[in-house]
Amino acid sequence: MFVRRCCQSLANSPLLRTLSSSFGLIVDIDGVLIRGARTIPGTVEGFKKLSDREGNLKHPVVFLTNGSYRSELAKAEELSEKLTVNIKEDQIVLVNTPLRTFTDWHDRSVFFAGQGSSLCSTAQDLGFKRPVVLADVLRDIPMFNVISHRKRLALNSGVLPEVLPDYLPIHGIVIANTPVDWEAHVQFLLDLLLTRGELRASNKGSQLPFIACNPDLVWASEYHLPRLACGAFVHMLAELYKEMSGRELEVTWCGKPTEVTYTYALNMLHQQAAVLGQKIDKVYGIGDNVDVDVLGANNNGLSSVLVCSGLYKNENIDFARNVTVRSKRASVTEPITADYATRTIGRFIDHLLG
Ligand SMILES: [Mg+2]
Repeated sequence: MFVRRCCQSLANSPLLRTLSSSFGLIVDIDGVLIRGARTIPGTVEGFKKLSDREGNLKHPVVFLTNGSYRSELAKAEELSEKLTVNIKEDQIVLVNTPLRTFTDWHDRSVFFAGQGSSLCSTAQDLGFKRPVVLADVLRDIPMFNVISHRKRLALNSGVLPEVLPDYLPIHGIVIANTPVDWEAHVQFLLDLLLTRGELRASNKGSQLPFIACNPDLVWASEYHLPRLACGAFVHMLAELYKEMSGRELEVTWCGKPTEVTYTYALNMLHQQAAVLGQKIDKVYGIGDNVDVDVLGANNNGLSSVLVCSGLYKNENIDFARNVTVRSKRASVTEPITADYATRTIGRFIDHLLG
């Protein structure tokens, strides 16, 4: 909030009425800057050219990822080290960062599906006062999870307790990142959806509100084949829900390519421009995933830049304009056109700086 107020007052300052023109960058991380533990060749050199002698970026840049990490600050520190420039936490938009604006949810009991020991504290950091995670449910209601024969035999009782934990009923579901323990997560999520968060009896009323952060089906690791991502989990859950309820799962998506996420990232980009005394003429959205980065940029008024260093590969491209590509999703039959396609982000920075 302090940063926002500070930026607004700076933007109104007479000192900044003469603004220089600049471009702004919204940059994906995995497959563009880094791949696994490795920084993609040319990236460090490229960001050095965008920075001053102290390592501060001279142009507005937001790093926008469908990944989730401990915090924006932790990701900023990691990227600062890898790119050897100064990156601040308010330049990072993680997949669940826009959930800060979902204030209607913050006082309610919300189930967070995902992974990582910081899942609960991350939810609290985003403003959610009553987050519930799978570990809470496995501790308090272990009898819901009986797919494993070993776990079933270890139970004292298989029935739902008379007295339920005080975090029930659940009022909303957030898929915060790619869950682990898929069988337990799927079982509990279906239980919540089919009982409208009460776990008692099936409830055919309106569906429990459901947010999923990250529509990506796959991502590029160092492994030679694409790896399953959060969108794959939601896709599977939706199919099961449809078979069991006869209804389509209504999902509010967050993360690229959604408008929610691009609106948030663009707002941060313009705040940076105000601090730098610049006016942004053009915003480039740079990424390696046709279905989220290129589509997201095209649908939200950015100039789209497809790099060939991650999920998308084309050894014939060094630098090209108006490149039409096919979606990786079988359900998307229309071709998608990127305004630019480049070998790496370093190559595109060279083009930008002339
Ligand atoms: Mg990527």
